[in-house]
Amino acid sequence: MLTPVFLDNLPDIGAITGRRGELHRLQRNKALADLLLEEGLTWQERVCPACGTPGPASNFTRSPLPFRRCSTCNTIHATRVPPQHRLDGLRHNEAADLLARDGTAAMALREAEYVSILNWLRLSAPRYASRGLSHVLDYRFASHAAHWSETADRLGDDGLRWTHLPLDPGTPGDPPFADLARALDSERPEAVLVQSELDRCADPQALLAVLRAGLPPGGLVFLSSSCADGLEYEILGADSPSFVPLDRLTIFSVRGFSALARRSGFDCLEISTPGRLDTVLLQRYFTEMDGVEVPFWSGFFRNANRDRLQDLQLLLQRSLRSGVMRFVLRVC
Ligand SMILES: [Zn+2]
Repeated sequence: MLTPVFLDNLPDIGAITGRRGELHRLQRNKALADLLLEEGLTWQERVCPACGTPGPASNFTRSPLPFRRCSTCNTIHATRVPPQHRLDGLRHNEAADLLARDGTAAMALREAEYVSILNWLRLSAPRYASRGLSHVLDYRFASHAAHWSETADRLGDDGLRWTHLPLDPGTPGDPPFADLARALDSERPEAVLVQSELDRCADPQALLAVLRAGLPPGGLVFLSSSCADGLEYEILGADSPSFVPLDRLTIFSVRGFSALARRSGFDCLEISTPGRLDTVLLQRYFTEMDGVEVPFWSGFFRNANRDRLQDLQLLLQRSLRSGVMRFVLRVC
């Protein structure tokens, strides 16, 4: 199994957060409050989605939705979740607003992220697909990432065809991820990109089961999600700026997701944590929160120059401790 390191320059924190991120957080928290107030909605109680069994866990946060951190595998998870079709319906309603708000200004901001994804596929595909890739299905990323589909078509490899499957509000009574099952059956891709989707699922195991059933033997999944082992979550816990409960119903650890993927019928070919934001987010947190003292870390981040931040970010990537993780999975 490979654990590559992706070295990029640190982004400017002012360019990636600000009003747009704050609006998104408010919108998602309002949607969560509406769900919690909805009478008659059936919530599913959950144990750790990675271990699949009840085990020791500590409280991550109690409000507004209880989250636990598994003591066995370190995965952070909401202890109860609404039905998948309600989550999909809410996101579908928000998607048009989100893309309009992102507009063309988001293009330049996100292009580095998009190029990083395309490079990941470009470098990994020859290692794991003996004849290369000719057709990749993008599951929903185009619905919440402005101009992703155009960028993938413009900058992607010649000869690689993308199918962008948009977010589907779903039909009550349909099994979860029925849209994906139908697309795998009709499109027959060799690989699927699941970018920033796993965290938002009510039942991540069900998503993996649909992928496993619909891909051919040797089919690949390129999957990215947030990572519970990241330094930001370790230091700040539920105060982490990246923690938006409805977007982070499950934050897998590397160990937890590896175990779930293997149990679901996949080989884990590659694991990395290529996040670039941990250190700049932590520096902003500690410089804005004057009275907050955490042994060693608060002083480190208040005094660190850009080189020190870059050194630490690289160490986090090397040690699988950044807040974003990537997996390449292959159907066994
Ligand atoms: Zn666990």
